[in-house]
Amino acid sequence: MPNKLSNYINGQFVDSHGSETFDIHNPATNKLIGLTPLGTTTDVDQAVAAAKEAFQTWRNTPAIDRVQPLFKLKALLDEHAKEIAELIVKEHGKTLKEAMGDILRGIQMVEVATGMPSLMMGENLTNIAAGIDASTERRPIGVFAGITPFNFPAMVPFWFWPFAVASGNTYVLKPSERVPLTQMRIFELISQCGFPKGVINMIHGGKDVVNGLCDHADVEGVNFVGSTPIAKHVYTRSTASGKRVQALGGAKNFMVLLPDAVMDQSIKAMVDSCYGCAGERCLAGSILVGVGDAYDKMKELVLKEMENIVVGNGLDSKTTLGPVISKAAQERITSDIATAVSEGAELLIDGRNTKVSGHEEGYFMGPTVLDKINPGTLMATKEIFGPVIGLMQVKTLDDAIEMLNGSEFANTTSLFTTNGGAARKFINQVIPSMVGINIGVPAPMAFFSFGGSKDSFFGDIKVHGNSSVEFFTEKHTSMIRWYEKGIDSSVSSIWGTK
Ligand code: NAD
Repeated sequence: MPNKLSNYINGQFVDSHGSETFDIHNPATNKLIGLTPLGTTTDVDQAVAAAKEAFQTWRNTPAIDRVQPLFKLKALLDEHAKEIAELIVKEHGKTLKEAMGDILRGIQMVEVATGMPSLMMGENLTNIAAGIDASTERRPIGVFAGITPFNFPAMVPFWFWPFAVASGNTYVLKPSERVPLTQMRIFELISQCGFPKGVINMIHGGKDVVNGLCDHADVEGVNFVGSTPIAKHVYTRSTASGKRVQALGGAKNFMVLLPDAVMDQSIKAMVDSCYGCAGERCLAGSILVGVGDAYDKMKELVLKEMENIVVGNGLDSKTTLGPVISKAAQERITSDIATAVSEGAELLIDGRNTKVSGHEEGYFMGPTVLDKINPGTLMATKEIFGPVIGLMQVKTLDDAIEMLNGSEFANTTSLFTTNGGAARKFINQVIPSMVGINIGVPAPMAFFSFGGSKDSFFGDIKVHGNSSVEFFTEKHTSMIRWYEKGIDSSVSSIWGTK
């Protein structure tokens, strides 16, 4: 029986107060590989108290000193990237190549956060009135908490805490209870980097820990990434206790193909978007929309691309499609496919009941292609979060834009075309706030802002890049005048004598 994992509080690995545990299974084998303690509000109190205490000194530590541990962490993450990637495959299931992407994107966040001494500089102006200067500084705020999902065990926590900590705040992370092993290893590295005690903490748990963080009077702000219902819950509960919150939710991403697109490359990018990470990506393509004549070619090439997909254990170098996260996810996706068929979709390729030799217990799903998706049906509206593609035909680009703008989600969308005018119109008119032109997974990099709109995002300020500086700091403006003895300070200005 594997050991129960520890929390990391005040610079030490300590036991959780939770007596219940969550079983972590390797999705490729169904083998039990760890036990996540389901922590309690006592764990939350301990971690937040440590972070609050550390903030008193950390907030006044020079920014250039605050980023030094991040430089060390970057070097350690580079050194251990392959080992961490293997851990990601073991607990999540994605392929080793995808897992390397997960960790490398995380490292980029650390790199960008080391620029905080420049990023958080303020504004000033001398003589805003005669003899008076004004200066706006960005101040850290206090303790922040992060709650993250299962699908990117390494990257998503890095969207937040390096920026929070570099800008002078302290942090409590609660990773997904389904994939905590990656963060356990990363926190072993963090513990070697020289962060003062309490600056960065991690507690394991489920909804009790989440709700405890949302309610805690000493937590100033919350970062959340996960499904839309929980994003809404965390946003509502945390803002009710006066916190600043950014909560990223689910998605339903439409990819549109025009007849003038470079077909082979476009279809490859679209299919990779749908099946990469077994479709368990908030930026995964879900519905492929062929405009006019593009539809027939799209259908033909999508079916051809299916021949290249190899389902298997992510550690096998030939595998291009790993298992989904859990038996429950496998059953949910299987049931969604059945509903789609009952609502009129035509099943072109059925990935249900896919078995991988030697891995009979794994949660594998082969690629599924459903044609003739009708607007308003489950397949057209619900986030499937599995390796399932829906095909649709519309008459014009305007029809495609109108349809995708009607979705309750608005995370990302892509257009495939060689027509600049069509691309410009698409960018201008679509609601999803991350847009790809001939890009299947338009994920903004660490130095840009990330996040969708509508039910894919709750909050006002997006994630990473310059937005993170906005989120993690408060602007303070000082107006300053110095009197000089013996000199009349009521000097004249263009507005007259003051
Ligand atoms: P999830 O909502 O089940 O879990 C996310 C976090 O919420 C976890 O840490 C979990 O412990 C906690 N949680 C779960 N149920 C809770 C409850 N009832 N009360 C309080 N806390 C609870 O999401 P998931 O399945 O881990 O992740 C997949 C989802 O995340 C998908 O919907 C995906 O689109 C979304 N996601 C979105 C983005 C984005 O950028 N918008 C990025 C990654 C993932």
